Amino acid sequence: MKTEILFISDLHLSLEKPELTRHFLHFLAQRAPQAAKLYILGDLFDAWVGDDDFTPPSSKIREALKNLVNSGTEVFLQPGNRDFLMGDEFAKQTGLQLLADYAVIDLGGNPTLLTHGDLLCSDDHAYQTFRTLSRTATWRDNVLSKPLWLRLLAARWYRLRSFWHKRNKSQDIMDVNHETVCEQMRSFRVHQLIHGHTHRPQTHHFHIDHQPAQRVVLAQWSTHAIEILCWNSHELLREVFYHAKNA
Ligand code: MN
Repeated sequence: MKTEILFISDLHLSLEKPELTRHFLHFLAQRAPQAAKLYILGDLFDAWVGDDDFTPPSSKIREALKNLVNSGTEVFLQPGNRDFLMGDEFAKQTGLQLLADYAVIDLGGNPTLLTHGDLLCSDDHAYQTFRTLSRTATWRDNVLSKPLWLRLLAARWYRLRSFWHKRNKSQDIMDVNHETVCEQMRSFRVHQLIHGHTHRPQTHHFHIDHQPAQRVVLAQWSTHAIEILCWNSHELLREVFYHAKNA
């Protein structure tokens, strides 16, 4: 019986990085089927302009996810800040289950909070304002009503803009706010949190109300190394796979 639970995030798949797509397809075909569940904690794609966009590598990924689900591995996806427009159509086509911004799961009797991580970066006020606006039905309906070519163009512009904005933001602002982390963990009554987004893989130990707590940060995927987190029924272990350059 399959028992492992896997966690990944921040793959940022795109047309421009076919090696990453290859690594992910390999992972979906070889490693993921051994697990009972796979949690994708956001930013699977570098941009998502709507479920009606089938430009590569979207179709191949949909098909591979569907094969994984059919093989008996449950797949859950929490949208990230890059792919928050992912919707029910994508879920239906792949058989995966979309999760809300915060979800609590059980890991060996330890309730564990899952989130992409951008909501925890509460010091970035400009981003949080945009985030609130972009999650409203009005904003979403308005964007999705635009023709696909215009949305693809807008996504390119947005990625470029975000690249320039990030260069001018301090490193602190782009990390999580510890108070916000504790606040959320308290409100969900958990002492374990798993998230991605910051691209700062590490396990942080601290205390919440005198009880030991930990925050496990997932790594982003790159063309030379991919990292996954595995719950093997006893502990959380990081697995790193290195790839030869241009392999
Ligand atoms: Mn992100």
